[in-house]
Amino acid sequence: MRANHRMQRLFVTADLAAGAAFEATKEQFHYLSNVLRMEDGASVLVFNGRDGEWRAELGYPTRKRLLLNPIEETRPQPEPADLHYLFAPLKAGRLDYLVQKAVEMGAGLLQPVMTQHVQGRIANLDRLAANVVEAAEQCGILAIPEVAAPRRLEDLLAAWPRDRRILFCDEGHAGQNPLPVLAAIGEKKLALLVGPEGGFSDDERRTLRSLDFVTPIPLGPRILRADTAAVAAMAVIQAAIGDWR
Ligand code: SAH
Repeated sequence: MRANHRMQRLFVTADLAAGAAFEATKEQFHYLSNVLRMEDGASVLVFNGRDGEWRAELGYPTRKRLLLNPIEETRPQPEPADLHYLFAPLKAGRLDYLVQKAVEMGAGLLQPVMTQHVQGRIANLDRLAANVVEAAEQCGILAIPEVAAPRRLEDLLAAWPRDRRILFCDEGHAGQNPLPVLAAIGEKKLALLVGPEGGFSDDERRTLRSLDFVTPIPLGPRILRADTAAVAAMAVIQAAIGDWR
């Protein structure tokens, strides 16, 4: 079910049940009360990643306090998205973009991968997690994607669970069209691997191509920037074999 676009949606940490009112955080108070100027009795949508989405009513017991009172469930908690997104970190600003777009496109796990030519780094996992929550609030996702700690590519491959296929965006692929490659894939569990701005090294590409749980895919006739490649790949994967069908 697609989300209601008109109502404000907020991620909260409290358990959600009818009548179980809880105190808004300072930030939520500031946003709802001072920025949006929402009054007593107004409604917002709240979700916590566990209990579905609820319409909650605002109540101000005093001028300095705000309670959120869940009234009715508007959407049940769905299964989390299952597409794992493996990405080489980009420089700070582009990394925020990358994380937000990946969540919008239906990534269920965000796994930073350190490759030989990686230039960015993950200075702050909390910032990634904050971007994930912001994107989820924005696009109506109720299961918050997990952000994993960075791993080296070779460590990740060495411990890889064989029942999940890695779709590896290979800028050196001889083909152009990813659709026939995707159509031939049997596994339901998938991961997408996109390289850093500097691309994969020849060594890495050789290793990836030799692994039976990895499928290289092309993304057209042009070299895309890593952030563009990620969005393009997720769009074709979701449309061909994922949750857009
Ligand atoms: N500097 C590299 C390009 C890196 S692009 C070079 O010039 O070769 C960053 C990443 O985006 C790549 O590692 C790859 O995973 C993905 N990518 C970009 N364009 C692609 C394409 N046409 N096909 C498949 N993957 C692509």
